[in-house]
Amino acid sequence: MSESTMTGVPGVSGDQGVSGGPEMTVAAAFAGMKSVVPVMFRAGCPDCRGNFELAASALRLAIGATSRTTFYSFTCPDCGAAVRKPAGERIVELLTGGGVRTLRLTSVG
Ligand SMILES: [Zn+2]
Repeated sequence: MSESTMTGVPGVSGDQGVSGGPEMTVAAAFAGMKSVVPVMFRAGCPDCRGNFELAASALRLAIGATSRTTFYSFTCPDCGAAVRKPAGERIVELLTGGGVRTLRLTSVG
């Protein structure tokens, strides 16, 4: 049994037989990947004035009691500076909707 597997050429014989299947699999994989692809947020660094896109995992959102204490922060991939910017309601919605880690600063209890 194992002898036939060794002798046969895996690429050639397998290719023709499976040609109908992979198309479906690839399409499904692509459809699945779309929803998995992380949201990218555009951000700028005031230090080095670099512009870049950051994944949701690279950003952190801090929600304070007021809009003044609500901000998002990230580390500049170019110069490594810790950047902190005020986040308005829209930004908060965008970030939370994009899966950004949210930290609530509101002092509880
Ligand atoms: Zn920078």
